[in-house]
Amino acid sequence: MPTRATKRGADRTRLDCDCDVLVCGASFAGLAVARELREAGAEVLLIDRYEIGERQTSACGIPTAWLEELDLLGSLRQTFGELVIHTPYTTVDYRLPWTFSTFDYRALCGLLADQGAFTFETAKVNGRTGRAVHTDRGDIRAEHIVDALGWRRVLGAGENIQPPDAQLSRGLEVHPNGSGSDMEIWIDRSYVPAGYGWSFPAGDELRIGVGSFDPRFHVRDPTERLAGDLDASAVRYQGNWIPHALRDAAEDGVYFVGDSAGHCLPLTAEGIRTALYFGLAAGRELREVLGGRWGAADALERYAAFSACHAAAFRWMLRCQRLIPRVTPRLLAGSLRGMQSRRFLDWAFGHYLEIAHPRFVAAGPRAARVQVAVP
Ligand SMILES: Cc1cc2nc3c(=O)[nH]c(=O)nc-3n(C[C@H](O)[C@H](O)[C@H](O)COP(=O)(O)OP(=O)(O)OC[C@H]3O[C@@H](n4cnc5c(N)ncnc54)[C@H](O)[C@@H]3O)c2cc1C
Repeated sequence: MPTRATKRGADRTRLDCDCDVLVCGASFAGLAVARELREAGAEVLLIDRYEIGERQTSACGIPTAWLEELDLLGSLRQTFGELVIHTPYTTVDYRLPWTFSTFDYRALCGLLADQGAFTFETAKVNGRTGRAVHTDRGDIRAEHIVDALGWRRVLGAGENIQPPDAQLSRGLEVHPNGSGSDMEIWIDRSYVPAGYGWSFPAGDELRIGVGSFDPRFHVRDPTERLAGDLDASAVRYQGNWIPHALRDAAEDGVYFVGDSAGHCLPLTAEGIRTALYFGLAAGRELREVLGGRWGAADALERYAAFSACHAAAFRWMLRCQRLIPRVTPRLLAGSLRGMQSRRFLDWAFGHYLEIAHPRFVAAGPRAARVQVAVP
């Protein structure tokens, strides 16, 4: 059992306070926002129910260039130049035009946190009334509020839609000891009717899981079956809901970043680089506001528009997500084989990376205005 580092008992004092910026959620999205505020000269408070890096939220796979650009290579576990896709009728081995890497969650969060300048407190967020965020340790009032709390969108206005009715996928994985050289996925209805299975090696550990685009389909049994088929033990489970539709990135004066805004890519369930990307964008807008260059309402509007300008790419990926389960396995195998040409892969994966490109990291304070090309 991992040791829970979150403060308990007498260490858990009241937290009634005011600050300039309150960032709720200290995973990818929240830490990216805080990073951009390091020289803003503002009082930034970051809160999470767990200590930073304590609770891994994913298989931790990301295009390597994102780790390079953000100076996070210290967390890298393993790098892959190819993607192996298994279906019942074929296996294809796609050579990628860029590499993908797995990383250590705790190490990455620690490195990213070191790039920011903020106060951190553990607290569970329960809701919000206007500028006051209610936590289990008291109310925190802030001029600017960021919800980076994941799919629950805790600080949204009105009723929150819960699974299985919400636009969510579900994913579960196990982390047995072991090693491998390939990043592999399975598109196979015997595991999941709509979705895919994966095995991502990460040094001395494998991350084996199944994701279902249908939130009603339970993934525990198929995850254990896939692990068994790979001669790996089903140990150290971690799972969560995964949004697969964009939601408004600004609402009632609050910034929503990462999964809380549905920033996870619908077809692949890749949500780390997009959480970082939109986190940087939100942080840059806030930095301009704190510097007195833009008004708060303008900045929120600009951030919302920046998020919305990616809607076409998200819609396109959602359409593919819905189409693939309808394609017969034989036709799918033929199509996957037909897409093996170097030219096609460069084009397809190039466009895919373009949705949240690592060049955005170095793009500077006004980068949130950069328009991205979409497929
Ligand atoms: C099994 C699985 C595997 C995945 N693998 C990958 C992958 O390999 N690559 C990839 O790109 N994406 C992957 N994803 C998707 C990815 O995990 C998410 O898109 C990503 O974590 C979103 O980042 P975030 O910072 O927005 O939210 P999260 O990472 O979910 O972070 C939310 C933070 O808010 C905190 N929090 C939540 N509620 C409260 C509360 N009420 N009070 C206080 N704190 C709270 C949490 O503790 C957490 O720290 C995977 C998802 C799953 C479920």
